[in-house]
Amino acid sequence: MVDFTLTPDQVLLVETVRDYMAREFMPTIQEHDVNHYYDPDTFKKLAEIGLTGICFPERYGGAGMDYISLGLASEETEYVDTSIRTILSVHIGLCGCGIYIWGTEEQKQRLLRPLASGERFGAFGLTEPGAGSDVANMKATARRDGDSYVLNGEKTWVSYADYADTFLIFAKTDPDAKHRGISAFVVHREDAPGLETRPIKDKSGIYAGDTGSIFMSDVRVPVENRLGDEGEGFVIAMTSLENGRYTVGAGACGTMRACLDLSTKYATERHAFGQEIGRFELVQQMIANMYARYESNRLLYLRAGWLKNLGEPSGRAVSLQKWQACDAAFQCASDAVEIYGAYGYSDEYPVFRYLRNARAPIIYEGTREIHTMMQGEYALGYRAEKPTRCTLPPYQPEREAVTV
Ligand SMILES: Cc1cc2nc3c(=O)[nH]c(=O)nc-3n(C[C@H](O)[C@H](O)[C@H](O)COP(=O)(O)OP(=O)(O)OC[C@H]3O[C@@H](n4cnc5c(N)ncnc54)[C@H](O)[C@@H]3O)c2cc1C
Repeated sequence: MVDFTLTPDQVLLVETVRDYMAREFMPTIQEHDVNHYYDPDTFKKLAEIGLTGICFPERYGGAGMDYISLGLASEETEYVDTSIRTILSVHIGLCGCGIYIWGTEEQKQRLLRPLASGERFGAFGLTEPGAGSDVANMKATARRDGDSYVLNGEKTWVSYADYADTFLIFAKTDPDAKHRGISAFVVHREDAPGLETRPIKDKSGIYAGDTGSIFMSDVRVPVENRLGDEGEGFVIAMTSLENGRYTVGAGACGTMRACLDLSTKYATERHAFGQEIGRFELVQQMIANMYARYESNRLLYLRAGWLKNLGEPSGRAVSLQKWQACDAAFQCASDAVEIYGAYGYSDEYPVFRYLRNARAPIIYEGTREIHTMMQGEYALGYRAEKPTRCTLPPYQPEREAVTV
């Protein structure tokens, strides 16, 4: 049976987050963006309503909601700004989900719980100056020394590097091996002398959020903070990315809906040639396409979330929704700018902020080209879904109703 109805908990979540975002973030976001300012209270505010651990079980400090709820929260946060949704992507999708899937019970209690409760802010350090899509070419190293590893190297383009307390970092324990030489480590900033972060100041969008680099010089990490076995880092990174991607694709639907709302409002207020511009068929075409893009991409992420709830492999579905939704969001934002005319090409209205913000998601968590290739390979039978040990545990409700 297929059921498109949101559960009462999901409906309540959407209402709560939408209202909270409108009150707490919408009034200041445009100003913060223009001033390139990340408000450090943002993470705390998300924690206050349980969003920092939304899809993790209560026994790990989370809110005990399902993965569709994570998608819905991603959409609602990006409706206001990509910088806010990015927190869910890196903190939950990339860092938290990696620990949830790959951590031992002891690690989940010790490392995941403070992330889920919002006590600590998590980030994900995979990309290096010379290795983005080509992860296996990374140069960072982790040398075993007694009960610890010694990490050296540089990570870059790390979202919220400058504000995170916990980093899921990838480095080579066998520098001569490619994929199989990579291992994963959970690094706590305060326990890591030799770890420094610095912001990237010249990025071209998501101004209200932080992106930085991590420099590691003889950073000691205890063995008990290694996730999985030595050499499993590549698979861990790919499973984390799949969950991050899910939030990116769902979030892109927030950009589409925001552009649709802004465009329909403006098109009924602005007049040209004696009528509302919404009466012109070419303007209607842009708005109709925005609606079509939003509705179809929302279905793609709900389906991916449904697969996750069942504990089924969802790599193909997630790659498809992330790829399609990010391109669609960029097109919606571009059309919204068009509808606003010259006013769209300024920061007097928010549409150009959505356009600036919509570009990076096409690049991160798998570029457009990587996802196109993946989809081609899945269709041709050259690529198979990852084994179920790489998927999130099936969603199991812990109690009758959830309050957020
Ligand atoms: C705002 C922002 C936030 C980010 N946040 C994080 C983060 O939190 N953590 C993190 O680790 N990283 C993060 N990244 C980095 C991001 O994941 C990488 O930029 C991305 O993986 C692409 O890598 P690259 O930039 O090195 O490009 P490259 O991999 O060098 O790619 C350059 C071009 O070549 C194409 N290309 C590469 N390989 C192939 C191929 N096999 N076939 C066809 N085309 C190919 C690409 O599609 C692209 O068009 C972030 C990036 C941005 C912009």
